[in-house]
Amino acid sequence: MNAAMDTAFFSAWVGEIARAVQSDKERLTRLDAAIGDADHGINLDRGFTAVVQALADKDPGTPGALLTLVGSTLIRKVGGASGPLYGMAFREAGKALGDASEVSAGELATALEAGLAGIQKLGSAVEGDKTMVDALAPAVRALAQAVRNGKDAPEAIGEAASAALAGTEATIPMTARKGRASYLGPRSVGHEDPGAASTALILTALRTVAAR
Ligand code: ADP
Ligand code: MG
Repeated sequence: MNAAMDTAFFSAWVGEIARAVQSDKERLTRLDAAIGDADHGINLDRGFTAVVQALADKDPGTPGALLTLVGSTLIRKVGGASGPLYGMAFREAGKALGDASEVSAGELATALEAGLAGIQKLGSAVEGDKTMVDALAPAVRALAQAVRNGKDAPEAIGEAASAALAGTEATIPMTARKGRASYLGPRSVGHEDPGAASTALILTALRTVAAR
């Protein structure tokens, strides 16, 4: 990555999320069909389509303002559990960035930590409950660790994306304890959690943009 993590970088991230959600819409919905109500891909596609439109309309001037707008748009446009949860995460991440015009890898790690804290405050899921937290928590840890080890942003973000993918895979044998999937009890075992899968997709999109 040659460019700094500025507003254009975060805008490119959101564009890449929207593209990835659209192309993986069916896969996410299929995962949700197995242990939920088959709307996760549809929910996120609707949400990120609205987000791209909102960014074009309002043209936020800082990374923090941009992430805050992503969050408030998701809250407005996405029903279900994931809209408020992702909305809260992006809003808290945006708030953590303040009005800085460029973001370091360490500041990004702090912002994602704030996003995770927001999700856990709202949904009270812990790791092992078979939710998006099982992808995001290890990703946030990997990012912070990589930054402490002196890795540059693309490398550190790459490690976060890998951790999110591994965390998603690790949800397969788990029993769901939060959200709709928890109604299934032990029958939720053997399926990947759709929210963990979409979190991995969001962080993979970040890796793609950081590697450009
Ligand atoms: P809904 O379950 O309302 O249909 P979605 O299908 O869009 O909403 O999202 C389902 C995902 O939301 C789940 O796969 C899980 O990862 C996540 N989720 C549900 N409840 C919680 C919670 N309390 N904390 C964290 N994540 C949750
Ligand atoms: Mg659902």
